[in-house]
Amino acid sequence: MIKKFKRVLVANRGEIAIRIFRACHELGIRTVAIYSNEDKCALFRTKADESYLIGQNKGPIEAYLSIDEIISLAIKKGVDAIHPGYGFLSENPEFARKCEEAGIEFIGPTADMMDKLGDKIKCKLVAKSTGVPIIPGVEKPITSEEKAIEFARQCGYPVMLKAAAGGGGRGMRIVKSEDELISSFNSARSEAKKAFGIDDIFIEKYLEGPKHIEVQIIGDKYGNIVHLYERDCSIQRRHQKLIEYTPAFSLPKEKRDEICSDALKIAKAVGYRSAGTLEFLVDKYGNHYFIEMNPRIQVEHTVTEMVTGIDIVQSQILIAQGYELNSKEIGIVSQDDIKVNGFAIQCRITTEDPSNSFAPDTGKIDVYRTGSGFGIRLDGGNGFTGSIITPYYDSLLVKIISHSRTFEDAVRKAVRSIKETTISGVKTNSAFLINVLTHEKFLKGDCDTSFISQNPQLLD
Ligand code: ADP
Repeated sequence: MIKKFKRVLVANRGEIAIRIFRACHELGIRTVAIYSNEDKCALFRTKADESYLIGQNKGPIEAYLSIDEIISLAIKKGVDAIHPGYGFLSENPEFARKCEEAGIEFIGPTADMMDKLGDKIKCKLVAKSTGVPIIPGVEKPITSEEKAIEFARQCGYPVMLKAAAGGGGRGMRIVKSEDELISSFNSARSEAKKAFGIDDIFIEKYLEGPKHIEVQIIGDKYGNIVHLYERDCSIQRRHQKLIEYTPAFSLPKEKRDEICSDALKIAKAVGYRSAGTLEFLVDKYGNHYFIEMNPRIQVEHTVTEMVTGIDIVQSQILIAQGYELNSKEIGIVSQDDIKVNGFAIQCRITTEDPSNSFAPDTGKIDVYRTGSGFGIRLDGGNGFTGSIITPYYDSLLVKIISHSRTFEDAVRKAVRSIKETTISGVKTNSAFLINVLTHEKFLKGDCDTSFISQNPQLLD
């Protein structure tokens, strides 16, 4: 049954809120923004048809986490559905459940699916049950160092301690020896508790210099699921992605197909619906291992959209309304129907200062000029001349996405666009991104996740 949405509320801010408003407007849906005290002057709220202050007595982050307040606002304003974007409440089953209970469609997977994939350990167990390879590790949260030591002795150092509820590159520690394991175990638990509200941690083998390859999938409410191929997200700093591209051309086609079909196996095992991403690491011998699933839209969904021509955010909204993948509205008839056209690269321009350990910079932007042109897509957040960058939220300013027939040309377009971009008043990572893009190893697709830490000259 199709239930057409008239009004959608976006429980998020910045570039992803704008991205979702645009998708809604193109579908003829009215948009409702929420904003915190600190975001009164933010650009994103002006891109919605209506916007409302929430969390008046709360902090800048807590405002966007005010589940009950957001839902009562949605009811009051006659909202049909809520899109959570990424971060904030996007992976919170309680929020999804409360939306369902209030008769508001949550644009994403169901609360039960989120529970099943709830944390990194649960995700790995689902993958294991389908026969997809996972990184060797314990299968339950560990509460004592003895268990951690026992595992590490069996599999050998280095190992990684991970917060089960971790995300955004946080809550992970590489441990190289037993002494280090003993000294870091308790602090890893208390850090997890502090950052994610839960002190479950687990341990797994640490792979040296793997590639991060992830697969975009999309499923409707009727059990139809397809993948939209893979992305290479190996360019990371401290486990956080900076540049992402597709296809992951440095891996053999057969390997990429194998990873994509493994991703589908896991998604099908939970009857996944909406957009999601399955993340894998590929070691230097070419073995792939599933690490986690993100049941939400991701920052780097854009590159997949460019090469497949499929609007992932619009598809999410249509799926939530009850459309089938093969409906004329979504237009994905079958897996074979999805073609990859050329190469796309996304660079995240952030207000971070590479010469000062990437410390986030804040202040007023005096000049903001971007470089568009053929083959460039700009998904911006709050940047404009005169805008104020506050210290409260993530430092992503604009995503520059280039698309071309060859990888080399997509790189040239990205570099050209970054060079054309003039931002003054706050520091950015632009020069650093150009150093990466023009590096010989990057051009060959040879970078793994250790590339940035092993090449400190990229910061000059
Ligand atoms: P998050 O949810 O915080 O993004 P992930 O589990 O997706 O964390 O991992 C983020 C990155 O951390 C990976 O892309 C990879 O670079 C690194 N990483 C995670 N697990 C391992 C591991 N077992 N061995 C080596 N690197 C890892």
